[in-house]
Amino acid sequence: MSLSDDVLRHRFQGCLLGLAIGDALGGKFEAQSAEGIRARFPTVSSLIDYPQEEIWYTDDTQMAIGVAETLADHGEIVERHLCTAFASNYVPSRGYGRGARAVLEAMEEGRDYRQVAEQYFPGGSYGNGAAMRVAPVGLLFRDDQSRLWEQARLSALPTHLHPLGIEGAQLLALAVALGSHSQSLDRDTFFTNLLTACQSAAYRTKLEEAARVRTADDLSHLGNRIEALESVPTAIASFALTPESFEETVSHVIFVGGDTDTLAAMAGAVSGAYLGIDRLPQRLVGLVESSPKGRSYLLELADRLFARHRQLTPAA
Ligand SMILES: [Mg+2]
Repeated sequence: MSLSDDVLRHRFQGCLLGLAIGDALGGKFEAQSAEGIRARFPTVSSLIDYPQEEIWYTDDTQMAIGVAETLADHGEIVERHLCTAFASNYVPSRGYGRGARAVLEAMEEGRDYRQVAEQYFPGGSYGNGAAMRVAPVGLLFRDDQSRLWEQARLSALPTHLHPLGIEGAQLLALAVALGSHSQSLDRDTFFTNLLTACQSAAYRTKLEEAARVRTADDLSHLGNRIEALESVPTAIASFALTPESFEETVSHVIFVGGDTDTLAAMAGAVSGAYLGIDRLPQRLVGLVESSPKGRSYLLELADRLFARHRQLTPAA
């Protein structure tokens, strides 16, 4: 059974807001140890209740906005437009890594950004920087898996040329698409779909391990680092462990420590695409920054992306 327009539109909104909330909440703990975070926040609710003021997202959401704007405006990834969007959204203080800053500054100044990327990441970056921003691709191409796979690759290329960086983005986009389709998540089907799409032995092994996760403590074995291989499967596993709870999905990856903003941004995007905006914690939705590209803009951008999706895939 397909979802009604309203339900699906709410899932687009849930995905972008889920990404921003995960990113902003996780951003408060970036690079901290699992033990340190656990000592301060022993429970999921203590972590979720922690923010009392506006929460500000980091580079993850900022770059995802660039991807979403490009897709909403052009209906597909066009590298020239994508780089313009990245450059126009770029605010260095949002937590970009050193290599990403250099590449984005080259984009801004019209220099050869691929050469700069190669200089910082010889052989291509296999970090999670393409996966952290890819969720809008998963939404727009949710009904066309081969197009999704190719568009996710194109969205990665300006900064991530290594196959593991690209495949991480493709798998996360697919997880978003699968989440956006499910009415009641069937874990086995979810992981079978991901494993069928998976191309490398490295991700296959990780996803098989992710499919076996039964407790939040198991998540730490999957990794918490900035490499896509050490974080994308962790985020996906956290969603599949507690699909009915955004709060648990996002908190569990923050409790893993390490690259908490990106882990929680990715987990939050998949969770939000499944649950929809109405099942996100409304207090945190209300605390998302009220800046020009804050909460209201993200909701409007999700609506624009949904309208574009309807052009590609008219309602049955
Ligand atoms: Mg970040």
